[in-house]
Amino acid sequence: TISLFWHRRDLRFEDNVGLAAALQAEHPVVPLFIFDPEILDKLENRHDARVTFIYDEVERLRQEAKAAGGSFLVRYGHPVQVIQQLLKELDVAAVYTNHDYEPYAATREAAVKELLDKHSVAFHTFKDQVIFEKDELLTKGGLPYKIYGPYKRSWLAKLTEQDYQTSPSASHLAKLATVKAGHHPTLQELGFERSKEPVPDRKLTLHTLEHYAATRDLPARDSTSRLGLHLRFGTVSIRKLVQRALAAHSDIWLSELIWRDFFMQLLWHFPHTATQSYDPKLRDIRWRNNEAEFQAWCEGRTGFPLIDAGMRQLNATGFMHNRVRMAAASFLIKNLLIDWRWGEAYFAEKLLDYEMASNVGNWQWVAGTGADSQPWFRVFSPDAQLAKFDKQHAYVKQWVPEFGTARYPAPIVEQAASRDRALAAYRASRERH
Ligand code: FAD
Repeated sequence: TISLFWHRRDLRFEDNVGLAAALQAEHPVVPLFIFDPEILDKLENRHDARVTFIYDEVERLRQEAKAAGGSFLVRYGHPVQVIQQLLKELDVAAVYTNHDYEPYAATREAAVKELLDKHSVAFHTFKDQVIFEKDELLTKGGLPYKIYGPYKRSWLAKLTEQDYQTSPSASHLAKLATVKAGHHPTLQELGFERSKEPVPDRKLTLHTLEHYAATRDLPARDSTSRLGLHLRFGTVSIRKLVQRALAAHSDIWLSELIWRDFFMQLLWHFPHTATQSYDPKLRDIRWRNNEAEFQAWCEGRTGFPLIDAGMRQLNATGFMHNRVRMAAASFLIKNLLIDWRWGEAYFAEKLLDYEMASNVGNWQWVAGTGADSQPWFRVFSPDAQLAKFDKQHAYVKQWVPEFGTARYPAPIVEQAASRDRALAAYRASRERH
């Protein structure tokens, strides 16, 4: 008799809450990862760097399990069918997994639970990827927080050492079971080719934490942690990062991790905001959605140097600096009057650190349509942002070498007029409501 531990977005053995619980329970444990066609089939790029990353991290875990004398199962298929099959092949007493707050993950988990209930197999789930989840933090009135400021105060007030204590799973790996592992699909069998795009490593230096507050807003400095991808797939532990932030007294960096928790609980409470503006008064904006202008934005040919540099950085590396993400998003939504969901989808396709909760949350923040967002009438000026954060054009020159030459395109819109056009469209939606 064994227990299964179903890895999802927690690709590590170390400080993994659900895995630690499974290893401390009665039965030996077999870890499992399922490549889900529902997710993979939606990816357009057959060289998607995130798939290669997951594939390699799963392989690393498989080797780690092997070194500890245990098996690691890798399967391709719908999780309900895969787990149903495993119930036939193995004597499974329980399935363990960590919470995932995205709408599709919740649906998938409910279906797995139904199957396990039918077979009288216990299903144990745990909080692992955030410090506070779901309704652990609520307002005095018992409602979810919708505004970051009070959420953050309540997050900090509730935090105790226990909340960021790490679990001792690595030392218990001897409890991994050995079973017949079966076929391990290759990347090609999953329908993908190996990506050559480099991914950031998972190191967080003290230097980054010490200089973060002073340099985080300067895109040319590249001084942020680049841990987004690792947080997304759980190749680092959020508790360890909180420990590091506290030890270095890096309050600003800690605040960024709190933003991440904030958006996760927001998406969990309001799953419809993944595809719909939170503010009902702004659901009827008559977007222009001009395809040619959208294409110019995607390719970094708008004639606005900061925006073009950001989009080219994204296309070339799968990363864009946060300050530039805000400017590029604002430009698309307000200056081009293109639906924020088009931009959200493009970022989702390209960002290595794509995280539905943070992407939707930030796009809605910029659009002014979110639960917590900047006022809808605020429009970033791409030129003012450039003057403030890349005065010497170091970042722009890095990504737009033809900037300042005749080859660089003229601006595709006029700033002031396009700003007024956006404000009128927003106002009209509010009036129609
Ligand atoms: P650091 O600056 O070192 O911060 C550390 C970690 O804190 C990040 O890795 C991330 O997990 C978290 N974090 C930082 N800022 C935010 C924030 N504003 N909201 C939520 N979490 C934050 N972040 C994503 O992780 N995935 C996304 O898909 C995403 N899409 C975005 C879209 C737009 C339009 C904007 C304006 C921001 C988006 N962000 C997103 C937030 C932010 O830009 C990135 O988290 C950050 O740039 C990643 O770089 P880093 O890992 O070096 O972060």
